[in-house]
Amino acid sequence: MKDIKDLSFDEWKAELVQIGQPAFRAGQIFDWIYKKGATRFEDMTNLGRDLQEKLGRAYIVGTLELFGVFRSKDRAEKYVFRLHDGPRIESVLIPAGGRATVCVSTQVGCKFACAFCASGRHGFVRHLAPSEIVGQVLFLRDHIDMALTNIVFMGMGEPFDNYENLVKAIVILNSPHGLGIAARRMTVSTAGIIPGIERFKKLGLQVNLSVSLHATSDAQRSALMPLNKKYPLGKLLAACENYLKEGGRKITLEYVLLKKVNDTAEDAFHLARIAARLKAKINLIPFSPVIGLPFEVPEEGRVLDFRRKLEDKGVPVTLRHSKGRDIQAACGQLALLERNPSDRLFRCAPK
Ligand code: SAH
Repeated sequence: MKDIKDLSFDEWKAELVQIGQPAFRAGQIFDWIYKKGATRFEDMTNLGRDLQEKLGRAYIVGTLELFGVFRSKDRAEKYVFRLHDGPRIESVLIPAGGRATVCVSTQVGCKFACAFCASGRHGFVRHLAPSEIVGQVLFLRDHIDMALTNIVFMGMGEPFDNYENLVKAIVILNSPHGLGIAARRMTVSTAGIIPGIERFKKLGLQVNLSVSLHATSDAQRSALMPLNKKYPLGKLLAACENYLKEGGRKITLEYVLLKKVNDTAEDAFHLARIAARLKAKINLIPFSPVIGLPFEVPEEGRVLDFRRKLEDKGVPVTLRHSKGRDIQAACGQLALLERNPSDRLFRCAPK
């Protein structure tokens, strides 16, 4: 059976018309699903019994099954969901100031195996369907007592490796018939898949783009991010320049700080030059420790020093201390728990 949440509003309207229904029904049904949180056709009282039954035979409104909620001291909350075929994914809610940002996964596992990231360590399992990407946001919207303001596609997986489903999810989240979340409040983060960047620009959405840079030379970037061998730095930066030239919104460069690996004065110097060339903001992320990985977190003083070196060159910097460190909320760290269930990684406080 088809999950209606895999369809954009236009696709759903076309499908309904094809089965002989008037187009206005599409809006009614999307309202039930996205505005009122209905998951059963029999609850959609303005449809009439016949249509309820007809839809019930051909479609479902899928929901995610909650596996656990983990709360951190800094108010980040990790939601772990079990998918219908078994694997687990996670979303992280990050309240900060007046904002509530939800960080969603786009794949189970990841193909790209960045050396410092937990997600790629156990390989790739499968893509998430649009309904599973949208479902994470819907679940949180309906289960927390604050309004979701921002969405970042920075959970498990590489968004541009699941391009079609990502874009469909964005369209549904953005549509006034769906969740009505402004494109400018969404951010896609990529490890640097150049064709994805090019296609994304052509879409003409106002969604923000972040690029995970993490190193300023091909040798170092290839060592940390094997994807760099396919999409080397020079070509990646040229693709970013084109993106901006064609009217794309400002790019943010993410840079994970790994002690004595990429946090030297020379690294800061090269990073500042790249940022200036792209007029980009830098998002510095001190490494969030992953058990079993040979990297360390730089001391606070070293981090602040690195930031100052960038700022001295006029580069705008945000320092994002990973939220939810105590609940292993950084990118895909749940994978470790599954691998070794005796590890007491979580301070578990289910709702
Ligand atoms: N595949 C996408 C989304 C990944 S997660 C991408 O690469 O951009 C979002 C960010 O967290 C990326 O910049 C990623 O490199 C970074 N990240 C992954 N593991 C991390 C860790 N252990 N500590 C800090 N940042 C990490």
